[in-house]
Amino acid sequence: MARKIGSRYTANQILGRGSAGTVWLGEGPEGPVAIKLLREDLACDQELVNRFVQERTALLGLEHRNVVGVRDLVVDGNDLALVMDLVRGTDLRTRLERERRLAPEAAVAIAADVAEGLAAAHAAGIVHRDVKPENVLLDMQGPLGPGGAHPALLTDFGVAKLIDAPRRPRATKIIGTPDYLAPEIVEGLPPRAAVDIYALATVLYEMLAGFTPFGGGHPGAVLRRHVTETVVPLPGIPEELWQLVVQCLAKGPASRLRASELAARLRELLPALAGIPPLDVDEPEAEPASEPQEAGAQEARRPAVRRGAVSLVPGAAPDSNRDTHTSMRVPGADELAGGARGTARVPRAAGAPRPGSARHRTGSGRRKVLLGAGIAVLAAAVGVGTWLTTSGEPEAPPSHGTHSSATP
Ligand code: ADP
Ligand code: MG
Repeated sequence: MARKIGSRYTANQILGRGSAGTVWLGEGPEGPVAIKLLREDLACDQELVNRFVQERTALLGLEHRNVVGVRDLVVDGNDLALVMDLVRGTDLRTRLERERRLAPEAAVAIAADVAEGLAAAHAAGIVHRDVKPENVLLDMQGPLGPGGAHPALLTDFGVAKLIDAPRRPRATKIIGTPDYLAPEIVEGLPPRAAVDIYALATVLYEMLAGFTPFGGGHPGAVLRRHVTETVVPLPGIPEELWQLVVQCLAKGPASRLRASELAARLRELLPALAGIPPLDVDEPEAEPASEPQEAGAQEARRPAVRRGAVSLVPGAAPDSNRDTHTSMRVPGADELAGGARGTARVPRAAGAPRPGSARHRTGSGRRKVLLGAGIAVLAAAVGVGTWLTTSGEPEAPPSHGTHSSATP
């Protein structure tokens, strides 16, 4: 089912599907490529297409061994495609699902790679805005690094910004998991480079712990935790590594390290981490042996849940699970109205538990966040209405070149 993309590329086979579109294994004049064909509703949006073209120069110019190179942007009839370097391997989410926790050396090596990719991007004035395991590709054909880690490459630069552009009402419909969102974004400030550092520190924590520091339960609860909760120490983590994680998860963006500094500090730690096995981390909370069918009953049977966990939706289980690494479901109108089915969880497909989740035993699934009017209401309740309904103001003032999003 080969398909022409513009005059120079052929898409031959689907490699994967993502939120923004479908990724194809393709062929170009210089050999195999990965082609991300954007979703039709995105490709039909003239404003988005214009922005896409505007971003072209910045994205094409970003070349680094830890960044998945963008080779071309094709606008062809109804097709809007991003032609990328082909990475033969897997993404970090898939690896975490398989292994749950990585040995500190491998986790730090991957984080250092991503930090180096970010340093190059930030130096070029590009903020990624969507650093998460799904956007870290592991190049299985690359040389093995410390801890047996394959080279890690960050992908999807600029995509979050395009999809999440202001004045696009539809932009409120889809947004990534809130697990990696920096507190300043939650508070409606424009995303600068430091948001990527926060997200990367979250990914590093997740590689070490098997769960994200503030994830779990309702999206509103996750957002609130980013702003108000402090991170719980991981037992057995080497002190210097922990200090780095804590510093980069600082609530104040100015307190976080810069990407290049973080990369250097992580690399320095590598020799001391050699041979340390994955951390022996407890589940964030005990899950009861039997699962009541009625999701709303979870509240009653749950033992001491996380600190400060409150239900934002009447009748909803408070912070009922940490299974928001990948996605969440927006509560329906009945739940918002306090109906009995108050839960942010949806059943996972049978036989497909996600072991990366700290509270996965009920089999919650990889879910997509569909943010409609309902979530805007919830967001307003935690003071982030502006961000969710208008997508904030992603553009940083031009005077802050290295901290602003890409501008041509
Ligand atoms: P989205 O960000 O739109 O959700 P992704 O970028 O995660 O979509 O792409 C979906 C899948 O396509 C990935 O999980 C991965 O398997 C595959 N993929 C994406 N980019 C590449 C690439 N450059 N090389 C090889 N495979 C890729
Ligand atoms: Mg992606």
